[in-house]
Amino acid sequence: MPAYARPTRVDEALKVLAQGGYTVLAGGTDHYPARVGRTPQEDILDLTAIRELRGIAERRDHWRIGATTTWTGLIEAKLPPLFDCLRLAAREIGGLQIQNAGTVAGNLCNASPAADGVPSLLALDASLELASVQGRRTLPLAEFILGPRKTALRPGELLSAVLIPKPKHEARSHFLKLGARKYLVISIAMAAAVIEREGGIVRAARIAVGACSPVARRLPALEAALTGKRLRGELVRPEHLAALAPIDDVRGSAGYRSEAALVLVRRLLEELA
Ligand SMILES: Cc1cc2nc3c(=O)[nH]c(=O)nc-3n(C[C@H](O)[C@H](O)[C@H](O)COP(=O)(O)OP(=O)(O)OC[C@H]3O[C@@H](n4cnc5c(N)ncnc54)[C@H](O)[C@@H]3O)c2cc1C
Repeated sequence: MPAYARPTRVDEALKVLAQGGYTVLAGGTDHYPARVGRTPQEDILDLTAIRELRGIAERRDHWRIGATTTWTGLIEAKLPPLFDCLRLAAREIGGLQIQNAGTVAGNLCNASPAADGVPSLLALDASLELASVQGRRTLPLAEFILGPRKTALRPGELLSAVLIPKPKHEARSHFLKLGARKYLVISIAMAAAVIEREGGIVRAARIAVGACSPVARRLPALEAALTGKRLRGELVRPEHLAALAPIDDVRGSAGYRSEAALVLVRRLLEELA
C-alpha cells in the first residue's frame, strides 16, 4: 500500500521528504489528471494541512506568497495594482473549482510551458524559497524552471514560498491570455508586463511571454527599449521578441504564435499606457 502523509508543520513535511520516494501533493489539479486510469502507487506528501504554507504576508521589502496559497486566495487578497497581472492570470486558470484548489507553487513546480502563472511571476521578478532538512535557499524564478516538466528542485526540497520584491517606483501591471475560447482553455500564448514609472517616464519594464518557448521568457531587448521613454504600444518591434522559440502544435502554428505574442505585448503596453 502506498503511504500517505499529511503533516501540519513544515519541519515534519521536510523530514518525510528526506526519507525519499514521496511525491508532493498540493491542490492535485495537475497531479491527478496526469494519472487518470492508473491505480495510485506513489507515496504522497500532502501539504494542505500546513497552515504556515498558506496565505500572503507583506514584509518590509517584499511580499511572501505561501506555497499552498490558491488562485482564489490570491484573487481575494488585498494587494496593490502591482499584482494585477497575477490576479488576472489567476482568474483565467481553469474554472472556480480549479482556482479554489490549485496553488501558485503547484503551477510553477509542474513546469508546463503553458502555465499561466509563470509570465506574471517573471514580470514581478519573483524568487522562490526552497526548503529542505538542510535549510532554505532562494532562487530567481528564471533559474527554477529548466524546461518542460523540469525544475531545479533537488531531492528532498519543497517550494515553500514565492517572494515578490517591492518596486522602486509607482508600478502597474497587466496580463493577457489568448486561447481558442475565453475560459477553461490552455493558452496558445500569454503575456504579462510590469511597468514602473516616475513622472510618466518608464524607469523599469519587465515583460514576459509564455507558451511561445519551452519555458516562459522575459524580453530584455524590449525592456531596455522602453526604459527612459513614455510608454506606447508602437515601441514594440518584432525583433524585440527574437528570444522566443514558438512551436507548431494542435493549438496553433509557430507563425501564428509569433504574431499573437507581438499583438498581445502591444496591447498590454497600450493598456498600461
Ligand atoms: C480542468 C483544469 C483546468 C486547468 N486550467 C489551467 C489553466 O487555465 N492555466 C494553467 O496554468 N493551469 C491550468 N490547470 C493546471 C493546474 O490547475 C494549475 O497548474 C495549478 O496551479 C496546479 O496547482 P496544484 O496545487 O493543483 O498542483 P498539484 O497538482 O498538487 O502539483 C503539481 C506538481 O507540483 C508539485 N508540487 C506542488 N506543490 C509543490 C511544492 N510546494 N513544492 C514542491 N513541489 C510541489 C507536485 O508534486 C506536482 O508535480 C488546469 C487543470 C485542470 C484540471
